[in-house]
Amino acid sequence: MGPRTLRHRAGPLIVLTAVAGLTLSGAGLAAQQRTPVFTHADTLRGSLGPARDWWDVTFYDLNVRVSPADSSISGWNGITYLVSRPGRELQLDLQPPLVVDSVMLEGRALAWRHDGSAFFVMLPAEQRPGATHTVTVHYHGTPVVAVRPPWDGGFTWQRDARGAPWVSTANQGIGASVWWPNKDHPSEEPDSQRVAVTVPTPMVNVSNGRLRSTTLNEDGTSTFEWFATSPINNYGISVNAGSYAHWQEIYEGEDGPLTMDFWPLAVNEQAARRQWTQARTMMRCFEHWFGPYPFYADGYKLVEAPYLGMEHQTAVTYGNGYRNGYLGRDLSGTGQGLAWDYIIIHESAHEWFANNITSADDAAMWMHEGFAMYAEGLYTECLTGSKEAGAEYVRGVRARISNDRPIQGIYGVSYPGSGDMYDKGANMLHTIRQLVDDDERWRQVLRGLNREFGWQTVRSAQVEEYIASEGGVDLDEVFEQYVRTPMVPRLEYRIEGSTLSYRWTDVVPGFAMPVRATLAQGRVGWLRPTEQWRSVETDLGSDGDFSVDPNFYVRVRNAGPAD
Ligand SMILES: [Zn+2]
Repeated sequence: MGPRTLRHRAGPLIVLTAVAGLTLSGAGLAAQQRTPVFTHADTLRGSLGPARDWWDVTFYDLNVRVSPADSSISGWNGITYLVSRPGRELQLDLQPPLVVDSVMLEGRALAWRHDGSAFFVMLPAEQRPGATHTVTVHYHGTPVVAVRPPWDGGFTWQRDARGAPWVSTANQGIGASVWWPNKDHPSEEPDSQRVAVTVPTPMVNVSNGRLRSTTLNEDGTSTFEWFATSPINNYGISVNAGSYAHWQEIYEGEDGPLTMDFWPLAVNEQAARRQWTQARTMMRCFEHWFGPYPFYADGYKLVEAPYLGMEHQTAVTYGNGYRNGYLGRDLSGTGQGLAWDYIIIHESAHEWFANNITSADDAAMWMHEGFAMYAEGLYTECLTGSKEAGAEYVRGVRARISNDRPIQGIYGVSYPGSGDMYDKGANMLHTIRQLVDDDERWRQVLRGLNREFGWQTVRSAQVEEYIASEGGVDLDEVFEQYVRTPMVPRLEYRIEGSTLSYRWTDVVPGFAMPVRATLAQGRVGWLRPTEQWRSVETDLGSDGDFSVDPNFYVRVRNAGPAD
């Protein structure tokens, strides 16, 4: 999803996100220094406990009836799973006030017990490794209504400008179990999924993958059967039901012809036909930098939604008002962000980083948002043909970084890192590009990541190690610093006579990241600072002539004369 731009309350403590020029109040600072307190429910949701770790979902068969008249839903999900270790108790998740009506194992009714949003199903006998079974959960109720989607999440019951009903879901933070029963953990993706949504006729529902059938039912409803043939993250599954227009284009991409389907509200079709041409330039740029679009078989779709936008896999949702920038603003403050539509670019970048390469734990969501924000700079570079323009964009978003806490969150409790994961994540990647110092090699690193880890849920360490080894640079302390601490490295220097001295401060032990700097009059080169003072001969003379390449996200301080 896109970065938040307002203070908000979320999870077990107050999370503050960066807004350019925002000064934290005393109360705000106290709140963010509070140690988060996690509950039993956080652990049930965020970890692979003993009732989750012995089975893997291979297929979800989700069938939901959506009733705008009373804001209710009902349906069932057939959960097919492969037994990897002997087990008997199965943890599933469905958030109140939704109600589980029955749980069946191949025709046999099973008992279950609730534990908050989780429910535990006791199977008739211990199941054998290698076996495949299907548990079907029937449920109904009035799901949580999203207050400020996509960030808090749930259902949105709306009407479009012509008064037609318009219904959508967004649930990345709160979890897919806010509207359908599943194994609600980011490490779990089925190999494929059906999403059959029944809505009152003549509403049209757009979900993930391809439309396999449309059925006009006798009770005045229609069922839209969508099918995603690739592994899909559960938060990507979505309902988008309304009065939609539709057209399709074929894009000749790296893996052949790719269908690009566009679903704006009928009332906005003209605006969409103008604004959404950016999806093609997006596809060209991101296939160049990240490799083939990851889901050719399921296609690419852009679907209008009544909230800002979300990276729903193969059905990216859009609510940016058919204008450039982020709701008409440039998050970088440089003007570069007004040349393109933030939501088309950012949310589509997530098809590579979030949907193709998915973090196995919410704690490492920087891998989604850092890369997606970084992709905005690359898109600026593609659009302008200027590497400097892209760099300017990424440098510009630094003003939004708060360094309140690390961009890595806490594992096992569904707790993402700081909102800095967007802007700081992007700037860390931009800094690493400087270290790799070879644009083609850097591009191959980004493409290689998608090849190596595509269609998988991964750990941060896998991605970090791959970037270091394929980029040919030592990044252990670089990732440690930028991902797992809120400190910004500070280069201290002094010039005395013809000697330039320099060292790192505010760094993790062993931090020795090289930087490009002005070493002498008219000469830029590499410095290799450590935590100890080092020195080099220089003719810079005046302190003012020394500078570090601004593409490195570091601080620089003139330490003045030594005592
Ligand atoms: Zn995002």
